[in-house]
Amino acid sequence: MKHLFTFLLICFSPIVSWAQEQNLRIEPPFWYTKMPTTELQIMLHGKDIGLWRAKVDVPGIRLVQQQVGDSQNYLFIDLSISPEVSDGTFTIELSHQTKTNTLDYELKKRIRATNRNQGFSSADVIYLLMPDRFANGNPNNDTVEGMLEPARRDDPSGRHGGDIQGVLEHLDYIKDLGMTAVWLTPVFENDQTPEYKAYHGYAATDMYKIDRRFGSNEEFVAFVEACHKKGLKVIMDMIHNHIGDQHWWMEDLPFNNWLHDQEVYGNTSYRGSVASDPYASQYDYDKLVKGWFVNEMPDLDQSNEVLSKYLIQNTLWWIEYSGIDGIRMDTYVYPYADYMARWAKEVLSAYPTFNIVGESWVESVAHESYWQKDKPGEEDGYNSFLPSVTDFQIQFAVRDAFNQDFGWTTGLMNIYYALSQDRLYSDPMKNVIFLDNHDIGRIYSTLGENIEHLKMAYAFLMTTRGIPQVYYGTELAFEQGPSAWGDGAKRAEMPGGWLGDERSVFDASGRTSKERQMHEYVKKITNWRKTSKAIHDGKLLHYLPENNVYVYFRYTDKDRVMVIMNMNESAMNISREKHIQMLRGYSSAKEIFSDRSISLLKDFKVPAKTTLIYELR
Ligand code: CA
Repeated sequence: MKHLFTFLLICFSPIVSWAQEQNLRIEPPFWYTKMPTTELQIMLHGKDIGLWRAKVDVPGIRLVQQQVGDSQNYLFIDLSISPEVSDGTFTIELSHQTKTNTLDYELKKRIRATNRNQGFSSADVIYLLMPDRFANGNPNNDTVEGMLEPARRDDPSGRHGGDIQGVLEHLDYIKDLGMTAVWLTPVFENDQTPEYKAYHGYAATDMYKIDRRFGSNEEFVAFVEACHKKGLKVIMDMIHNHIGDQHWWMEDLPFNNWLHDQEVYGNTSYRGSVASDPYASQYDYDKLVKGWFVNEMPDLDQSNEVLSKYLIQNTLWWIEYSGIDGIRMDTYVYPYADYMARWAKEVLSAYPTFNIVGESWVESVAHESYWQKDKPGEEDGYNSFLPSVTDFQIQFAVRDAFNQDFGWTTGLMNIYYALSQDRLYSDPMKNVIFLDNHDIGRIYSTLGENIEHLKMAYAFLMTTRGIPQVYYGTELAFEQGPSAWGDGAKRAEMPGGWLGDERSVFDASGRTSKERQMHEYVKKITNWRKTSKAIHDGKLLHYLPENNVYVYFRYTDKDRVMVIMNMNESAMNISREKHIQMLRGYSSAKEIFSDRSISLLKDFKVPAKTTLIYELR
């Protein structure tokens, strides 16, 4: 009884530490022992904390330097932590004039497990979804007291209430489709005003906190663990180009050069090509790099060394804390290219099994390939250290293949021309390829709302080189919404994700016949892709499109896959003789959707408007 009393006394005594009393913000909130880097920069923010001086007297921990911000409400403490230091709490002593106080800082033990930080590759298929629009697993967090924007489901640009719990509850649906990785659009706190509508997550107001309308930090960690248990990888979306204008820094900027001055540089030109243009003017460069993305997204100035360290460390913290497998970095070509390269290099040297894809939304293969690690040719000395780029060129090519007549440089030829420039990439197999995403129109509508076109494009995506990414809803042939909905037109809810929905696309019985047809197709092809070594690691050999038919092979020493895209309104003959280089030694082939076999010992016909995938035997 006495023990219990003592226990209760300890638990409920109002022991408020000095840090709590001072309302000190400490970032990162904790760190780890035996990290790949010995460096740790702690940011302290609180009234006049810059007047205090830190001292650390702990074996294995060295105080490297301390800096006061241009605002004296910041103190940055740089420590070097030797790998011998064991986990637990250590004390930082802070003194000002005659006063001395202490701050306890925790070093946690790293969790080592083979299913953490796995990376992603061309053996994966990434399923991209927006948490706000996918499923609402917890209606109690739709509107959170104390946060600026409440849920407004009737507004296509408002918050709809979807969350991490909603995704968690539908992991079986994602896995059943054959997907092997999940990319969530950003889940950091976006406590922006209702006018700005930041349900998309690209306007962070706290980079160490999951938005409470999506869940908590603990829920995110549990989500990653649950994905790993199901054999799904997790890709986290991050943004180092900008923050939200309601970020807590905005009230009290640490340094005068923390942001680029919007009054000087205005908004960005969105012209990513400028970053790799050998003839670019200073004016155009400044517009791209120093202009703000939009008025509500202040542009970070990563030439500030403290900010650079803060951002890189924030990434390492999330990788270590949550176990994520990869990062999709937003607006990769907008910040200083040297900063992005340093970030990618440091993150990947700390976590060599990890992978990163950068959003490189540019206009040509040459512009795109500039951003991939170890780019070949034209040496300007720049190396991005970024393994994967978002291959917009393949998306443009597919779009044009279905929207133009076949000609010397038009229609299906777009796909051929895009791929035939692959020598410009150091490793095109690492390109992330896609038909659509949350920023471009729904592919089903782009392709004329023709289900056969959508299937053809999907089969191409699953069999050409690269790492495919599928946007949620594409497996159900989601249409583009009315243009009056703005970006909401391409970010519709998954019916059945919300309590009280009339139907649920998560169950076969709730799908329309069009949705059922596409879902079945996607499920079959994607699950087949999971097993195909020729697609994961094989080489690509293709033939110039002829008579509006495109034929290509994916092959390893052991496996061989033949893909035929017939864009014609009629059946077409496939000549054995023309393709003998790849058909020699093979007598039959199984078409993987229907499981039907054909003989390869003679010419054969392929039906109109279809992409057929054959496994050669
Ligand atoms: Ca919710």
